[in-house]
Amino acid sequence: MGIASTAFGHHGRLCASYPWEVIVAMLTITSTFLCGQSRYPFRSTSFHGSLDINKESQAVDAVIMTIVRSVAILYSYQRIKSLTRVECKLVLGIAALFSLFSSFVFTCYVINYVSGEISDLNDAAFIFLLLIDLSKVRLLAEWTVSSARKEEVIDRISHGFAIVGPALTLDTIVETLLIGIGTLTGVGKLEVLCTYACLSAIVNYFISVTFFPAILAIFYDLTQRSNEAEVVSEEKLQWQVMALKRMFSKQQPNPVVQRVKLIMAAGLMVVHAHCRWPASDKHQLPLKEENSTSNPFAPSEAAFEVESGPLKWVAVYAEQLVLLTLILALIVKFKFFEDRSEVEREMSFRAQVLLSPSDDSNVIGSPRLFSDIIYPRTRGFSISIGDGNSSDSESSIAETEEKETQTEKMEVVDEDSALKQPDEPRNILDCVDLLRTKGSKYLSDSEILSLVKSKHIPGYQLEKALDDMERGVKIRRAILSETLPLKTALDSLPFTQYDYSKVLGACCENVIGYVPIPVGVAGPMLLDGKTVSIPMATTEGCLVASTNRGCRALLAGGGVRSSVEKDGMSRGPAVRMPNIQKASSLLHWIRDRDNFELLKSCFDSTSRFGRLQEVTGRLAGRYVFLRFVAKTGDAMGMNMVSKGTEMALQKLQEIYPEMEIISLSGNVCTDKKPSAINWINGRGKSVVCEAVIPGHVVTNVLKTSVADLVDLNVSKNFIGSAMAGSIGGYNAHAANIVTAIYIATGQDPAQNVGSSNCMTIMEPYGPEGRDLYMTVTMPSMEVGTIGGGTVLPAQSACLEMLGVKGPHPTNPGENACQLARVICAAVMAGEISLMAALAAGHLVKSHLTHNRSVINMAPSGSLPACLDKANLTTAGIPR
Ligand code: NAP
Repeated sequence: MGIASTAFGHHGRLCASYPWEVIVAMLTITSTFLCGQSRYPFRSTSFHGSLDINKESQAVDAVIMTIVRSVAILYSYQRIKSLTRVECKLVLGIAALFSLFSSFVFTCYVINYVSGEISDLNDAAFIFLLLIDLSKVRLLAEWTVSSARKEEVIDRISHGFAIVGPALTLDTIVETLLIGIGTLTGVGKLEVLCTYACLSAIVNYFISVTFFPAILAIFYDLTQRSNEAEVVSEEKLQWQVMALKRMFSKQQPNPVVQRVKLIMAAGLMVVHAHCRWPASDKHQLPLKEENSTSNPFAPSEAAFEVESGPLKWVAVYAEQLVLLTLILALIVKFKFFEDRSEVEREMSFRAQVLLSPSDDSNVIGSPRLFSDIIYPRTRGFSISIGDGNSSDSESSIAETEEKETQTEKMEVVDEDSALKQPDEPRNILDCVDLLRTKGSKYLSDSEILSLVKSKHIPGYQLEKALDDMERGVKIRRAILSETLPLKTALDSLPFTQYDYSKVLGACCENVIGYVPIPVGVAGPMLLDGKTVSIPMATTEGCLVASTNRGCRALLAGGGVRSSVEKDGMSRGPAVRMPNIQKASSLLHWIRDRDNFELLKSCFDSTSRFGRLQEVTGRLAGRYVFLRFVAKTGDAMGMNMVSKGTEMALQKLQEIYPEMEIISLSGNVCTDKKPSAINWINGRGKSVVCEAVIPGHVVTNVLKTSVADLVDLNVSKNFIGSAMAGSIGGYNAHAANIVTAIYIATGQDPAQNVGSSNCMTIMEPYGPEGRDLYMTVTMPSMEVGTIGGGTVLPAQSACLEMLGVKGPHPTNPGENACQLARVICAAVMAGEISLMAALAAGHLVKSHLTHNRSVINMAPSGSLPACLDKANLTTAGIPR
């Protein structure tokens, strides 16, 4: 089945890539057959054998045919009705063209090869009507026309054929063989009907796999040209695509059924082979002699002798020629002439109506237009579209414009009005059924709300259930708002215009919006000879300004040099052994180099970038606390290391079956908690920065002296921190800078705990100690430029700003290390600035100015002199 899928995939691609060639080839082959000499090879005497059929059998025939015709009419009626429910005119058009062409080819074959009698078409047409299968045609057409781009169409057709093709082929074979049994019965009329049925199935199949993909591609191409301006983004069509994908996935053939069909087909072939060839001499020849009923597919000499009247044939042939010419003319008109068809003109007209001149560049408006055109609006269709009734919206320009205005309002401001539609919510069971069969777009927000409340949709899965992320968030907010003391509490929490596809399943669950945090920039920072501007997301006034001043001081001093002296993310599982001897033996086993290599090979097999560097362990009684340390490329690496550690532990357990794994994380990692082990052994990137700040810069920019800074640093950062029993807190405010950059660049903000471990050292430097030598040592900075929140658009913009977005192209890990260097240098800037402010006694003043809401402050006239604006530098730092 896999090979067949691939072959049909290629086949669909080929037909869609060369649609015109396929159509021309099909038409040529058909014409060739029509003009061929061997005109009635399959015609059976049975078609003309009515002369020999007695009156009784004629009556039976009449009854059978009446039933067949009645069933065909009823069945066709039902199918036409279901087709008219399709909202897309394009799909209807394609289905109609498909039917037309199929019937044309079928008619040609019936007239030319089977019967030659126009009167026989009477019976054949009904059989054809019964057997023509439009469901897959419609499905493929819907699937294709929902494409947003031309390039995607070919892929879709290919994908569609890969799914439908093998099943269609098998169905046709089984169908033909099964019906073909009827041609062996010897019952006159039944044989004829079965012949028509077989022919109908075969014609349908060949048109489906040749003409149809070609016409799909052409139709799409033609309609897209008039709407190029509108087809801007796929995002707004996502719900359609996902709904169709779901629909398509339902079409995936059941392997068991397929196998049964295959067995059936094989059996039927044996039956046919057995009945036709060995029996041909015995049965068919006498029948020919008797000129009575025989297999219509079996060549018959008598059949060759009978010819229909030339005039009759020409009349039919002329009709087909007219049809053929008409179709060709239409295709040429569509393809080559500017003058578009009625459908396209209407589409263009509607596009113009809906697209106001000022909206040309509006990315929200344009895709919505496309969805309106291809899929006209239906009642309660989508809250974001805003109107509840399709026919109304199409009636006039004014009305449409009004609805556009409503849409804008609704998307930005008015949630409640969207929740009002439809006026009368349908009952839960209908809603459940609609959701299952048609998708959430047919349900109003209030109906979705009731589905959540009745637990038909889990609240946490709203986005997935609705195939519309923003709508899911919106409805979750509505549900939450009902439970809040203040119903309007969420009004100021934004939720629109956000790419939730990057959030769900990766960054956050139960989303109700996002919190915008101001992002400031500090810099330029001169780091290792290159300048960088540092993004900082914070709500602490003064922080960016202060870091900025530090950057200025460091720049004046010749910049900062950095070094990443260690790179390794850790995961520390806790295991328990039966006794201390076994625990000790495990520890010794791990320390052996060969054993380490064994664990390493297991660990490394889980990632392309995770590379185990060391495994250490410590005993606590019979407990063993292991610590796996690995390089993780450009990723921060927590998931990566966890995965690798788990695999290595499995190997360890094979060797020590008595080992009990208590937890993959036993806190010796140590993640997001203060710990000496990270401070001492390092975690993530261990970075050090150094700089020399000339004395005059200390005096003029930092408004203090080298001696005061060195003295303050010893008193505060060393003695003070020691008095506080600090671990890794030998700094002034490293966490401030680390967290602000972490938030801006999509790092895990909770990892500021270990990442902010920092020792700031200041020493007098140069002749007479006039300059300041400063270092900042940060042994456990947990950073990455790939994974986690780094993929979110705003965060990745900040990474881009630093030139470290995503994985490094040639040297995995280089981007993450560079980010660590930048953060360390920024911490240095923050440290020198704050220390200087403290040394000069400016801290409180600047904070009162920058860190207090103006609303809460006294009027400017009554400001103390030290806080007056005139006393501030342009950077906002007190003079
Ligand atoms: P991840 O996104 O889970 O893994 C990184 C992925 O990027 C891997 O699939 C990796 O490929 C791929 N990759 C491609 N190019 C790469 C390159 N140049 N360098 C590194 N990887 C590259 O990221 P993670 O850093 O391991 O985990 C971060 C996430 O873990 C964050 O969301 C964080 O919040 C979360 N976290 C988890 C824990 C925990 O206990 N599990 C703790 C704290 C935080 P491969 O598949 O070949 O490796």
